[in-house]
Amino acid sequence: MSSPPDTDDLVRRAREGSPRAVARLISLVEDAAPSLREVMAALAPHTGNAWVLGLTGSPGVGKSTTTSALVKVLRGRDLRVGVLAVDPSSPFSGGALLGDRIRMQDHALDPEVYIRSMATRGHLGGLSWATPQALRVLDASGCDVVIVETVGVGQSEVEVAGAADTTVVLLAPGMGDGIQAAKAGILEIGDVFVVNKADRDGADVTARDIRSMLSLGERREAGDWRAPVVKCVATAAEGLDDVMEALDKHRSWLGEEGRLTERRRRRAAAEVEAIAVTALRERMGDVRAGQGLDELAARVVSGEIDPYTAADQLVDAVS
Ligand code: GDP
Repeated sequence: MSSPPDTDDLVRRAREGSPRAVARLISLVEDAAPSLREVMAALAPHTGNAWVLGLTGSPGVGKSTTTSALVKVLRGRDLRVGVLAVDPSSPFSGGALLGDRIRMQDHALDPEVYIRSMATRGHLGGLSWATPQALRVLDASGCDVVIVETVGVGQSEVEVAGAADTTVVLLAPGMGDGIQAAKAGILEIGDVFVVNKADRDGADVTARDIRSMLSLGERREAGDWRAPVVKCVATAAEGLDDVMEALDKHRSWLGEEGRLTERRRRRAAAEVEAIAVTALRERMGDVRAGQGLDELAARVVSGEIDPYTAADQLVDAVS
């Protein structure tokens, strides 16, 4: 066992750009370490600078290829970039996932790029608890842009969209993605839609399908954002300028009329809620272990008290 990290020292080194310190801080998030409270307090004054880009899509659409291509474009602008690949389907593993090594190849030697996988399954607070905190670490560590990439399964993409300033939904031709998108509620979360693998047949059809589905659900008021649909070939870095242009436009739009602040306020509300709910669940677990819940349940069964009264007593016991 290593000795507990000195929080101030870790935070200082992370802010100076030490990849090891950043990695250590994200491990603290993964482990839900008790020192996280102190870490977050030390990081708080340094947050709020990074542009958080969410990128989601079905397995195999080209998320990691596109991320890597976007990192290259952003590095061309001399920006420090963080990549957080969130895998909602695998258990916590300390971050040393195969994906890291594959993703690292193009940017492995670049000290201005942090790449990290994070597994969230099985964690008490799950994705909605861990993602924003890992984003804070990267933000406070001086990343100008953080790309948070997740596999679009279940609720995960909706949660990731909640954590991002700008959300990109990645699609590919011939994967029935149009229908998938409508089903999964992806149309609502995408700020920019990207049809990757445009070198394959059917990219135009996929783009057209998405456009027409978007126009069906559109509530058009002056100033509303209209999500663009752009095509690219991530493997050949073709169309990346168009993707970047769409992202930049969204960022400018967010900057107007306090939209970014409003989005971040909603995001902070969700984050605080996730931390509070996780803390409450933990305390309820303590009550349960102390037989408090069993006792209340027995009194409900016997008709002594009603479930609302029992729930009130449980809430009183944990707060
Ligand atoms: P992810 O699972 O969404 O992260 O997808 P990957 O980035 O791992 O890509 C899945 C596969 O699609 C890989 O074999 C890529 O080389 C391939 N791929 C990615 N982008 C393109 C593209 O633009 N065109 C073609 N033809 N293949 C691509």
